[in-house]
Amino acid sequence: MRKTADVVVIGGAVMGSAVACALSENRDFSGRVVVLEKDRSYERAASALSTSGVRQQFSSAVNVKLSQYTVEFLKDVDLHLGTADGPSGVVFHENGYLYLGGADAVGAFEENNSLQRSLGVDARLLGRPELARRFPWMTLDDVEVGSFVGPGEGWLDGYVLLGAFKRRARQNGVEYRYVEAVGLERENGRVTGVRCSDGVTLAARHVVNAAGAAGRVVAGMAGLDLPIRNVTQMVFAFESPFRAGDMPYTFTADRLFVRPEGRDYIAGLGIGGDHGNEDGSLDVDYGMFESEIWPRLAFRVSGFEEARMKGAWAGHYDMNLFDHNAVVGKVPGLDGFYLANGFSGHGLMHSPGIGRGLSELIAYGEYRSLDLSALAYDRIAANRPVRENIQY
Ligand SMILES: Cc1cc2nc3c(=O)[nH]c(=O)nc-3n(C[C@H](O)[C@H](O)[C@H](O)COP(=O)(O)OP(=O)(O)OC[C@H]3O[C@@H](n4cnc5c(N)ncnc54)[C@H](O)[C@@H]3O)c2cc1C
Repeated sequence: MRKTADVVVIGGAVMGSAVACALSENRDFSGRVVVLEKDRSYERAASALSTSGVRQQFSSAVNVKLSQYTVEFLKDVDLHLGTADGPSGVVFHENGYLYLGGADAVGAFEENNSLQRSLGVDARLLGRPELARRFPWMTLDDVEVGSFVGPGEGWLDGYVLLGAFKRRARQNGVEYRYVEAVGLERENGRVTGVRCSDGVTLAARHVVNAAGAAGRVVAGMAGLDLPIRNVTQMVFAFESPFRAGDMPYTFTADRLFVRPEGRDYIAGLGIGGDHGNEDGSLDVDYGMFESEIWPRLAFRVSGFEEARMKGAWAGHYDMNLFDHNAVVGKVPGLDGFYLANGFSGHGLMHSPGIGRGLSELIAYGEYRSLDLSALAYDRIAANRPVRENIQY
């Protein structure tokens, strides 16, 4: 059976829903938007498994600007994402973000800080004495420098954000179909439709690939080879009788990340990203808490010596091996096809701006509020990487 739409979005988690929602909010666009989602439970979607940090501390201007857009969006989140049924439910915990570095990191921290401040981010470089005054419960013997932003950085609940985008999009008339996209139709260098697992083919003028860790598979349906691999990130939840005050989302030089989660905490080890795990396994190595996480926690915050693991999970980063940054926008030679892929561990926080940007590209043929051209696919062929100079 054949049906038609103006825009088909493949993948209905945070990114696909953000694109669909932004299109449905655009007064200059009145087309029919259909979102295809193969897993209604979102059990394996990164958006539901994310630690959902929001930070402006990046070292590339495009990522800083995307985050700034998010911070503004979150200030009025109920205006953007509330529905007739009530507010969005999105809560932004602005405890801040803290990066800790040793002597070898000082140069990179200074460079990042100067870019961030030039773009208006209130990022502060703190020496050890200032850090000790502000975070007296932290061991800082190995630390030379910290980079800190308070309000304007922190975390939210990714699954709640996804739900809010989706409810608002549906209220505006976006249709969600719970089927898998199994093929793309192409004609004369143009993607013209999507074949669905229920036998329906949706003809469309615009098709968006927002398939997360399966983005490479969907791009492959259009004959495109994206350098994106699934990389597994594990997250451990723990409780501790010691309360680390107003702990920010903290990253240390030995790759530990840790932040409060309600009355408990979550922690993990940041990944380098040059390896893939394409078998799709989301198995957790529970022993890692004892061998890798606990020693780092107990060293950094002696009060965490009594930390007790309460659970753990794993999710996929859709890691762009080329430069660890997103691939967004049109594809030369493949009209009508748009990418929202390769977010490499920071897509949740950038979903409002990516949604807005792609909706403008579809509606007007150009970016208007946010220029995302630095993230275009053609940078790969042109060997123009957009790198973060510290991998978090
Ligand atoms: C453990 C972990 C921690 C993270 N921490 C952060 C963080 O602190 N801050 C941050 O900003 N980001 C973080 N991220 C990354 C962030 O969660 C992702 O970048 C973001 O959620 C990606 O959203 P998405 O919609 O592109 O992908 P996903 O959420 O993975 O969704 C893709 C959707 O597409 C669907 N799909 C796939 N193929 C098809 C198909 N053929 N047909 C139909 N549907 C299909 C899937 O079922 C899925 O629902 C983290 C990720 C993980 C795993």
